[in-house]
Amino acid sequence: MLSKIKKAYQLLKSIDLEALDKLSQKIDLPKAMASFSKLDDKQLKGLMKMLEGGKAKKELPPINGDFYELHLRLSEADRALQLKVRDFMEREIRPLVNQYWLRDEFPFEIIPKLAELNICGLTYEGYGCAGRSSLMEGIIAMEIARIDASVATFFGVQSGLAMGSIYLCGSDEQKEEWLPAMQQMKLIGAFGLTEPEVGSGAAGGLTVTARKTDNGWVLNGQKKWIGNAPFADVTVIWAKDVDDGEVKGFLVRKGAPGFEVAKIKGKMALRIVQNGLITLTDCLVPESDRLQHANSFKDTAKVLQLTRAGVAWMAVGCARGAYENALDYTRKRKQFGKPIASFQLIQNHLVEMLSNLTAMQTLVYRLSELQDAGMLRDEHASLAKVFCTLRTRDIVSRAREVMGGNGILLEYDVARFLADAEAIYSYEGTKEINSLIVGRSITGFSAFV
Ligand SMILES: Cc1cc2nc3c(=O)[nH]c(=O)nc-3n(C[C@H](O)[C@H](O)[C@H](O)COP(=O)(O)OP(=O)(O)OC[C@H]3O[C@@H](n4cnc5c(N)ncnc54)[C@H](O)[C@@H]3O)c2cc1C
Repeated sequence: MLSKIKKAYQLLKSIDLEALDKLSQKIDLPKAMASFSKLDDKQLKGLMKMLEGGKAKKELPPINGDFYELHLRLSEADRALQLKVRDFMEREIRPLVNQYWLRDEFPFEIIPKLAELNICGLTYEGYGCAGRSSLMEGIIAMEIARIDASVATFFGVQSGLAMGSIYLCGSDEQKEEWLPAMQQMKLIGAFGLTEPEVGSGAAGGLTVTARKTDNGWVLNGQKKWIGNAPFADVTVIWAKDVDDGEVKGFLVRKGAPGFEVAKIKGKMALRIVQNGLITLTDCLVPESDRLQHANSFKDTAKVLQLTRAGVAWMAVGCARGAYENALDYTRKRKQFGKPIASFQLIQNHLVEMLSNLTAMQTLVYRLSELQDAGMLRDEHASLAKVFCTLRTRDIVSRAREVMGGNGILLEYDVARFLADAEAIYSYEGTKEINSLIVGRSITGFSAFV
């Protein structure tokens, strides 16, 4: 009895009598008390939740395309660089890409800002380059493409194809002349291999000719699709020496007589990348601008092997950007009164996307480890390029699908990833050509025609 009185006293003490008085003027308190006492536990809990302001806002998990936390394998310095590039891309690039993509123009103002990150020519030794790992180079390609595949392509041509040609095939003088300025992005490069009538068959069929004369080399013919060419300071032109039939590389400087570039218009993918149709008409290149260590297509192939792994990483970035955008959208978009992310069929798409994305990331990590260990073979890079670009196509298309109509609007970003994935799928060796490379390696039979 005494304890009951004590409890009642404690209860009375905790009640704000003034507030109770005000309440009793508005509602029939004894009747309310009688009704409350008839409620069961569940109903009482619901009532309390309602009095506490309804459902607490659900805390959603962070959006993270690195589901297996591969970043944990990085050193502290590498992780810091990854996050620095990510922050730069989010802050400086994301806000402007859609407008430039729509206008089919290149945002030149980003070049000095990209240069400040000091990531150009990341894996090369000397010439101002950082001498870091291929893994880190891949991660950076992924981070850039996660926001925009065009900027990643521009950067890949500069840092990989153009600088790589000079780094692998140039003389010491040529490296000294070009690489430090290209590393700082004060000079921009392009890489001209493909021709209007020769794409996949470049290994044996180049038609651009190089003829040695007393004054130097005379180049004739056309190159198509050459990224950065409309504004590049130097374009590496791969041409067949008419005397020995071997493919040689030439550094053709901007404005060289007989070197004309027309911008390719009307692309439905990578619209920020400026691709050129180059016409060489008796274009004279001095012997000092012939890549001194490029003696056959085997040397060209070394450059392509170096960069093909980077393209696989780029595909991962494109897929990751699309996945993360789509996941974010599905958590915000409501239909039938619920976030669409809570629907089973939508979750199935998201999980399919994440499975492929996770497999792709794991694959390219290992690919770069092989590269860093000096064990990378053509077929390793080709397999990664085939697998990642194929899966990326699937991921971007599902990302578009879960976004309904908004998936085709540029402002939601995924439409851009969807279109850009098509170009990544085809350049630096199509699926068929890379499959033939892997097929030859595993069967021992070449199926090339
Ligand atoms: C946006 C963009 C940027 C590019 N940037 C550059 C650049 O900077 N520098 C550069 O040199 N090039 C560049 N390219 C060119 C690119 O590398 C080529 O498009 C690519 O190699 C394919 O060549 P192609 O387009 O001529 O197709 P094709 O070779 O004509 O192939 C057409 C189809 O036939 C298939 N095919 C061809 N041969 C075989 C075979 N033997 N067996 C089975 N199937 C086959 C192909 O797989 C493809 O499906 C770029 C291309 C694009 C789209």
